[in-house]
Amino acid sequence: MHTVEHLIAGAWTAGSDRSTVIDPHDGTPVTSAPAATAHEVAAAVAAARAAQPDWAATAPDARAEALRAAATAVEHATGVLARTMSAEMGKPQAEAAASIAAGVGTLRQYAELGPLSGGRTLGGDPGALDLMVPEPRGVVAAITPWNDPVAVACGLLGAALVTGNAVVYKPSERAPATGWLLTKLLAPHLPPGVLSMLAGAAPTGAALAESAVDVVAHVGSTAAGRWIAAAAARTGAKALLENGGSDPLIVDEDVDPAWAAAQAALGAFANAGQICVAVERIYVHAALAEDFLLALVKEAAAFEIGPLVDLRHRAAVHGQVVDALDRGATLLAGGVAPDGPGAWYPPTVLADCTDEMRVVETETFGPIAPVVTVGSFDEALRRAARTPYGLAATVLTGSMSNAHWAWQQLEAGTVKINAVFGGAPGGAAHPRRGSGQGFGYGPELLDEMTATKVVHLEAPPGGW
Ligand code: NAD
Repeated sequence: MHTVEHLIAGAWTAGSDRSTVIDPHDGTPVTSAPAATAHEVAAAVAAARAAQPDWAATAPDARAEALRAAATAVEHATGVLARTMSAEMGKPQAEAAASIAAGVGTLRQYAELGPLSGGRTLGGDPGALDLMVPEPRGVVAAITPWNDPVAVACGLLGAALVTGNAVVYKPSERAPATGWLLTKLLAPHLPPGVLSMLAGAAPTGAALAESAVDVVAHVGSTAAGRWIAAAAARTGAKALLENGGSDPLIVDEDVDPAWAAAQAALGAFANAGQICVAVERIYVHAALAEDFLLALVKEAAAFEIGPLVDLRHRAAVHGQVVDALDRGATLLAGGVAPDGPGAWYPPTVLADCTDEMRVVETETFGPIAPVVTVGSFDEALRRAARTPYGLAATVLTGSMSNAHWAWQQLEAGTVKINAVFGGAPGGAAHPRRGSGQGFGYGPELLDEMTATKVVHLEAPPGGW
């Protein structure tokens, strides 16, 4: 069992108020983790504040070199990190290793991009010099979720650190040992205090979001993101939010129903549906609905998934399935939690869904495919737009004009045509509405972590 500690001002400390994380595969205890108090939060923020000016004054190349060394350390520890991630949150180990590789790649990308990102010079009075200079924002609070814990943390931490910020990192209480191991790999490459780590749940995150930091970067649920945005408005910190989604998949009448069902299954069931850009609701044209549903049921039966993160989350997912059945949905596959230990839940297909069902309206974050049958492509677009979220959307169509009409109409940060996942490296989008604000990924995250200063330099009377 892992015994997690806090890292504050370069020193590991046991902390208090411990709780235990349970392996969702079989119910065995995996991790004992403390919860940082308001006092510990203040100490970590003060240490970050004290360490940041020297880190900002370190040459960008040297900061990048630290990140590169840290990336190599994380890469070498892939085995133990993947085992820990899998035991804490249920992701199969091979998928955990792939997501760690993504995190390592992100650290390396920021190590390359950091020293290259600069400001610009302006064309003013020829006797003067006008500059736009990006400066580190100061202290960044990075508050992360459990569903992809290493890759998400590597993105926020890599971009914040390489641009000269100090970071106070709070991993999810559902994957604390994963965050603690990651910190143990990163911190030795950084001066003390530049990276602190606090374990704990929402109260620790809330204390951090309300503390004297300059940026609160939160990846997680919409409810927590809204709370953090309000806290940041009170303190004057910048809030960077990558939050929940209820991504639609639209299936046009001219596509192969078997192929569309395979795409839908991948989108809805991968990582047991616990992906921010998972397919959360499916609008299928009536012309192929029957064939599509038959094929989707076959896909569900064949799809292998890990357990959900814990029993609390399983109860929430099942609650949405029960609500849908109460309101007239038809259960075609899954929908019953198995007996025995662990937080397993089968790939589930619901037909005859309506917009009022919670499983369609809100984020489910489980392996559920709720299917709504529609009479036209335009109806699908209209109904897909009725959502408080705006993270991503997918359209399956053979029609170029429908594809173009759809990406222009859909109010989401990311629109994918004919593939539920995928996209060129470096793509970063602004999530819309309840899905967040700012660039949480890509080269643009470096801009989010810096503030631009305009400088106007003139010679004194008589010249230099
Ligand atoms: P969560 O918001 O409950 O927790 C995420 C982090 O926020 C944790 O560290 C938690 O302790 C902390 N937290 C919770 N309440 C807080 C508060 N009031 N103040 C400060 N911190 C608080 O989310 P989760 O359940 O861990 O993760 C799942 C959610 O994350 C889903 O909604 C998913 O869509 C979203 N997510 C989004 C993206 C994205 O890029 N948009 C990526 C991954 C996950």
